[in-house]
Amino acid sequence: MSWVTTVVGSYSVSEGVRLLVNESIVSIPEWANLIWYNPIPSKVLIFHWLAIRNSIPVKDILFQRGIIQEGQNISCFWCFNSTETVNHLLLHCPWASLIWSDIMFWWNIRWVMPSSLVSFIQAWSSGMGIKAEMSRSY
Ligand SMILES: [Zn+2]
Repeated sequence: MSWVTTVVGSYSVSEGVRLLVNESIVSIPEWANLIWYNPIPSKVLIFHWLAIRNSIPVKDILFQRGIIQEGQNISCFWCFNSTETVNHLLLHCPWASLIWSDIMFWWNIRWVMPSSLVSFIQAWSSGMGIKAEMSRSY
């Protein structure tokens, strides 16, 4: 076997990424750049990336992968009212919503929780009215 895009025929991760990004095989949304070019700890970045890629091992994903079997409980660990998905756990669970509500209240922002984590990141990266709301409070 030989990697056809290199002269020597050997694969490297950097060559694979270069091929994916430069050859536009994979388009990286602009909001994704905000995740990786951000001065926050790498473990937070990785968790964030996994959450957006729907790869955090919540019960719904474990069920889809066959780790949790049919008939086992896949409801949210915190509220028991909904299936434990990434979006539910991080955005819509009453416990998560309470935290987000407090944060938005502290920042004097009025908003409606987006339907998904990707929508949340897109709204967040576009400013989400933060500048307008914050400038009104000063
Ligand atoms: Zn919940």
